[in-house]
Amino acid sequence: MIAGGGQAGFQTAASLRQGGFAGRVVLVGDEPVLPYQRPPLSKVYLSRPGTDGIRLRGAEFFEESEIELLRGECVAGIDRADRSVTTESGTTVGYDHLVLALGSRNRALPVPGADLDGVAGLRTVADADALRAALPSARDVVVIGGGFIGLEFAVAAVDAGAKVTVVEALPRLMSRVVSEPTSEFFAGFHRARGVDLLFGTSVSRIVGEGGAATGVELADGTRIDADLVVAGIGVRPNTELAERAGLSVDDGIVVDETLRTSDPAISAVGDCARFPSPHAGCPVRLESVQNAVDQARHVASRLLTGEDVPYEAVPWFWTDQGAAKLQIAGLVGGHDRRVVRGDRDEGRFTIFCYRGDRLLGAESVGRAVDHMAVRRILTAGAALTPEQASDVDFDLKAYSKSLTSRPR
Ligand SMILES: Cc1cc2nc3c(=O)[nH]c(=O)nc-3n(C[C@H](O)[C@H](O)[C@H](O)COP(=O)(O)OP(=O)(O)OC[C@H]3O[C@@H](n4cnc5c(N)ncnc54)[C@H](O)[C@@H]3O)c2cc1C
Repeated sequence: MIAGGGQAGFQTAASLRQGGFAGRVVLVGDEPVLPYQRPPLSKVYLSRPGTDGIRLRGAEFFEESEIELLRGECVAGIDRADRSVTTESGTTVGYDHLVLALGSRNRALPVPGADLDGVAGLRTVADADALRAALPSARDVVVIGGGFIGLEFAVAAVDAGAKVTVVEALPRLMSRVVSEPTSEFFAGFHRARGVDLLFGTSVSRIVGEGGAATGVELADGTRIDADLVVAGIGVRPNTELAERAGLSVDDGIVVDETLRTSDPAISAVGDCARFPSPHAGCPVRLESVQNAVDQARHVASRLLTGEDVPYEAVPWFWTDQGAAKLQIAGLVGGHDRRVVRGDRDEGRFTIFCYRGDRLLGAESVGRAVDHMAVRRILTAGAALTPEQASDVDFDLKAYSKSLTSRPR
């Protein structure tokens, strides 16, 4: 039984069947549509009609794979003693093992005027449909939050012909997850496309007329015109169901290294799970497709084989902001040394981040080969000296391919 029909829930079900699981698989999701991928929603989806391209699989896949998909059904409660879940509509489904793949939801904008028409977030296909419909007539767009989704949306808004302002409370873009040089590169990129970037300031309220947004007011009283305001100020994990069931929760459903919750008959995967990461050296919660897919595969494999193997996949992530494509391998937070390979002015470079002499990860712009090499190096647990990393004559690709993965 899988609760949550997004990337991780879908992958758990699909991997169970691909691995030959013969028992009943029930996938319960509260969205009314077939499971889909979210990354296109802030990218190509905003400028292209149709939804087919984002579906993870068509309806026939679920029928043929005998995955019972309950759409538009919200799991309301877990009876751990009875090993069953109940949905809001009153359906009860029993389980031998329950996988929570509940994802996360956007943080609400905590300012007056957040409920005006023309103020939106971007998480679901319904959100993306509304924004896609609004973009052609939007003149002044304010994006609150200079993170991945806000910046991807800023690209779409510029392409649609709007004047775009990004308001970021911190001093640089994507500061939670990327290094300063990468933030600087992206700031230059967006400014060159005409985006106004405001740092170190926050929106104190949204002003409107006749129920619709007409602008935002900043903390210092400055007003900026806006007929469309998009908030991308982070997410909160969906943990309430787990909390009500008495599972351990701490900004995410707490799981062990095998991705089991505090109840061994329940696992949690994807955006909603806080897990001990050997790459971070502490428990983390990650919001990425890689994390959702690899954790789902890991749990499916454990259920199929019965083997308790720790989850150790190397985290990686990408964001496409128009022509600027960033790929991140590993977790670079807490690094104390950086070396660069390639040319930042040309927009083709990789920043390797180290703590001491240990490579934590790398941020690559326009250098997919470096990104793949770093993923292989981190998976193998191999060394790469800063001198090798920055030396373009050192064949990173060949070196990484010569490595074999070693168990930690
Ligand atoms: C606009 C956007 C762009 C993104 N771009 C990228 C990108 O470029 N690269 C990248 O790596 N990642 C990207 N991500 C992040 C990535 O999509 C997520 O990390 C991933 O979808 C997480 O998968 P998940 O299954 O954990 O959660 P989700 O995909 O959110 O799925 C969880 C599902 O569970 C449902 N649910 C919640 N509670 C219940 C309940 N009680 N009962 C039933 N169903 C429930 C939710 O409604 C949702 O459908 C993006 C995300 C967004 C929103």
